[in-house]
Amino acid sequence: MPLAYEIRNGYLLWIRNPFTGVISYAVELRAKSFAYTLRRHHSHAERPPPASLDPRLLHQALENCPFCLGHEDRAPNEIMRLLPEQVAHWQGARALPGASWVIRAFNNLFPRIPGELTAGKNESYLIVEDPRHFLDQPRSLNDLIYTGALGEEHFFAVMGVAAQLIKQALDNTAIGSVVVRKNQGPESGASQPHVHQQVIGAPSILPALEIELRAQREDPTLWEKMVRLASELELTIESADGVISYVNPAGTFPQSYDVMAPRFFGLLSELPQHQLRSFAGVFYRLLAFLGPLPLDYEIHQGGGLPLHAHINVRRFPYSNVAGTLNIPRHLPEIAARIRRQIGAGRK
Ligand SMILES: [Zn+2]
Ligand SMILES: [Zn+2]
Repeated sequence: MPLAYEIRNGYLLWIRNPFTGVISYAVELRAKSFAYTLRRHHSHAERPPPASLDPRLLHQALENCPFCLGHEDRAPNEIMRLLPEQVAHWQGARALPGASWVIRAFNNLFPRIPGELTAGKNESYLIVEDPRHFLDQPRSLNDLIYTGALGEEHFFAVMGVAAQLIKQALDNTAIGSVVVRKNQGPESGASQPHVHQQVIGAPSILPALEIELRAQREDPTLWEKMVRLASELELTIESADGVISYVNPAGTFPQSYDVMAPRFFGLLSELPQHQLRSFAGVFYRLLAFLGPLPLDYEIHQGGGLPLHAHINVRRFPYSNVAGTLNIPRHLPEIAARIRRQIGAGRK
């Protein structure tokens, strides 16, 4: 269905998601309290240190974690690893001197799609993004390392590993499409606290991509229109080297962002290195702004789609009422705040 929306007196009143048909109504949410939704997510720095966090609890969490350093034998056979000297500016060197890896990849013990459907091979992969489990000086068991804390070069290396796994999955002729997926925080469906993401090969075009391709066939200028609308509404965050990020008012969640290479119709694994760096950079700076908030992201690619990622943040409560969502009317202010912070970080 076509992209439909209404702008009145300069602000967006409503917009319909061109893929799902869900309508997002922009309403005043500034006075609304989100204390209940966000009670678990005061930032690391804001929270006072507890009188006593039992070090045995921290130790136990590390001991139980299959993705921590020294527990390599608890995961399926390793496919790939990057050594500390292969990840520029790795920030964990001080906390974990002598670490034998920084990024590791292996098959997911629990494949998303049964191997029987992909020529008898498990084509679900897991990337452990860092051997560190907790942030420096954790104040609670929730002070976990998150992707936005890794550093830009490190995230570029994680994207490089994802690109390698995409290639590997596509070597299997039974694979029709590959998606990169992250769940950050239990609210987004993460089942492991240790920072990781997934690469999933599927036997056919994945349903979400199929729906996007259908909409793109109906209106080949759809993505351009989205990018232009974001610009018109002052929702663009960055635009660099053919990669754009913006607040998506018609996202799946009330706070969603897109990172897009609107003129690149290939796979992440086909991006030239300099553009992969730009894509990873624009993507990372947004993740760094979002910090440890629960979120998911998915990289959509292939079949003639422009390469893009959707980031869905659990910042505002998700409450879908009969196919409608509420988005905050002050989205342009949110975008401006992100632009300022990203700009300040790059000076
Ligand atoms: Zn761990
Ligand atoms: Zn998409």
